[in-house]
Amino acid sequence: MIDLHMHTTCSDGQFSPAETMELAYQAGITAVAVTDHDAVSGIEPAQTAALAHGMTFFPGIEISVQGKTEVHMLGYGVDAKNQELHDFCQEQANQRKARNFRLFAYLERCGVPVTLEEVQQCNQGRASGRPHFARTLVQKGFAESVQDAFERYLATPEFYATVERPKPSVEEGIRVLRCAGGVAVLAHPHRLQFSPEQLEAFVKKLKGMGLQGIEAYYSRHTKAQTKEYLALAQKYELLVTAGSDFHGPGVKPEIAMGTGVQGSLCISDAAIPAKLEAAIRAAHASYPLEP
Ligand code: AMP
Ligand code: FE
Ligand code: FE
Ligand code: ZN
Repeated sequence: MIDLHMHTTCSDGQFSPAETMELAYQAGITAVAVTDHDAVSGIEPAQTAALAHGMTFFPGIEISVQGKTEVHMLGYGVDAKNQELHDFCQEQANQRKARNFRLFAYLERCGVPVTLEEVQQCNQGRASGRPHFARTLVQKGFAESVQDAFERYLATPEFYATVERPKPSVEEGIRVLRCAGGVAVLAHPHRLQFSPEQLEAFVKKLKGMGLQGIEAYYSRHTKAQTKEYLALAQKYELLVTAGSDFHGPGVKPEIAMGTGVQGSLCISDAAIPAKLEAAIRAAHASYPLEP
């Protein structure tokens, strides 16, 4: 089984990079990637653990870029030591911290106040992402579920207009990933909530900016959506990737590693990691990786 999209404690996941790889191995995954939000610190420890288990490992990252609301780009094969990528991650971390302080004030205005301590308890002392705010809201009885917390407070037009952090442009995001030796892939296209025509125009534009792949297989894609994204990949000669977006049962309870939501994923096509590996090799041919 293949799972090329998962999060660790280096962003908003529940388990450390080594624990995450252990779980991947136990789940029967043979090709794996870590893709923390705006962070590369999990790559090295995950790689060590994955290789010890004999799994094919891809270093990865998931960055958020400007666009409708949630435009996420995956970068595979990135060099975790690349200075520009480091600076990029540091800038995003600073912006996220500032965003989180606006978020406390916003939740207070909404009449559902939470404290830094309460949120930090949800992530081993780190207040990193919205999923932890969501869990805190649920624990305090302000929302029925994590999803409900997002719908009521954390993914509303007001949140995006007044609280969310500034993000790099799509073009800049793709450039940073590629300059770090990475292969740029559009994550979970369904989250864009585009019509098929809008999505095609968007993908065409991104391809012109250096996009190389599309995450056609994803936990929350319906069969019809997967078919639409596979056709787009074929038409625009893009790689196809597959990922669950596992964060751990404490963060996203419905998503299981490898299998997705109630068996929605379960991808074993060996051509997927093979083609990705070839694309990374081609990317590295023009990238001065340290030996
Ligand atoms: P952040 O990086 O702190 O802005 O949070 C991003 C995280 O929130 C990612 O793990 C997303 O999957 C999650 N997220 C964003 N929007 C939603 C939504 N509408 N419903 C559930 N989770 C979401
Ligand atoms: Fe996340
Ligand atoms: Fe994402
Ligand atoms: Zn993700």
